[in-house]
Amino acid sequence: MIDSHGRVIDYLRISLTDRCNLRCIYCMPEDGVAALDHEDILRIEEISRIVRVAAQTGITRVRLTGGEPLVRHGVVDLVRDIKAIPEIESIALTTNGILLPEMADDLKAAGLSRVNISLDTLDEEQYHYITRWGHVNDVHAGIDAALRVGFKPVKVNSVVIRSLDQDVFEFARMSVDRPLHMRFIEYMPVGESSGYDGSGWGEQDVVPCEEIMETINARARELGFPELVPAGKHRPTGWGPARYYEFPGAQGTVGFISPISNHFCSECNRLRMTADGKIRPCLFSDEELDLRTAVREGTDEDIREVFLQALQLKPDEHHSRVGTARKMSQIGG
Ligand code: SAM
Ligand code: SF4
Repeated sequence: MIDSHGRVIDYLRISLTDRCNLRCIYCMPEDGVAALDHEDILRIEEISRIVRVAAQTGITRVRLTGGEPLVRHGVVDLVRDIKAIPEIESIALTTNGILLPEMADDLKAAGLSRVNISLDTLDEEQYHYITRWGHVNDVHAGIDAALRVGFKPVKVNSVVIRSLDQDVFEFARMSVDRPLHMRFIEYMPVGESSGYDGSGWGEQDVVPCEEIMETINARARELGFPELVPAGKHRPTGWGPARYYEFPGAQGTVGFISPISNHFCSECNRLRMTADGKIRPCLFSDEELDLRTAVREGTDEDIREVFLQALQLKPDEHHSRVGTARKMSQIGG
């Protein structure tokens, strides 16, 4: 699929639910977002059918996200269904990691290839503050499980917030002894017109990736540790715009994703689908197309038509239009 700006679109991110077993202050109110009605959420079979049609239209890579995708009943069945679609080369999952210890084996057996685990801080008190309900050791157990069953790559993502002053060096150092790809992501002030802002964070909290890297290297110098160098053979195959570095001799890498300070819209390769069956051509735009009616009442050709329309609607870039009406948990970050 080629969009109207000449970009090849072959990556579909699917939100399976807007529910979650955590309540990160920048993503969800403590009592959850007004949950979607059960009938509004796409059924597992409906999602499988959409992916089959999307695959015939040019999608080769799929990521399952949410909300927390592992709280969605049927997620393992969905992975198995998608794995059976010949055009799909790889299936990935973005998760907070809490349920991985009990689910990693089944997900691997069903055909999941890659995982991204979200962990904004290694400090228990700070983690609990950000997630309201979470404990950092549960995420470490999830990372251990992901490595044990052999997902490849295992990436760990941290959103950096200026007012939190996270220990970015310690986070980066986790890439040294194990094949972990530790990635820093600039905070995106999205969802500000959703009426919820539990974090109080805004544009002033965006820390540009250049600055994060300099902080890591400054700390490395202080400790007599080598600085980051551009990643070599351990660089993970990516689907996105991360720039990878490594500590010399490390098993993993350190990645930087800068949607705000250095947007990568010209390389955008993706479409997003929300749990209630809306195609969102751009994360930062509230424009959405209704796929649910097509899957419930239409033919495969009707489904394909919605994808083709979405290609036409993909904007050339996000133009810093970040105050969207849906929070990340509702879009599928
Ligand atoms: N629950 C899963 C998880 O936490 O990985 C998947 C969904 S969550 C919305 C996906 C990612 O979006 C998480 O890594 C989270 O930190 C990130 N995220 C949420 N709100 C964000 C924001 N405003 N800016 C940048 N990243 C954000
Ligand atoms: Fe849940 Fe992920 Fe949002 Fe945190 S970031 S509340 S884990 S969906």
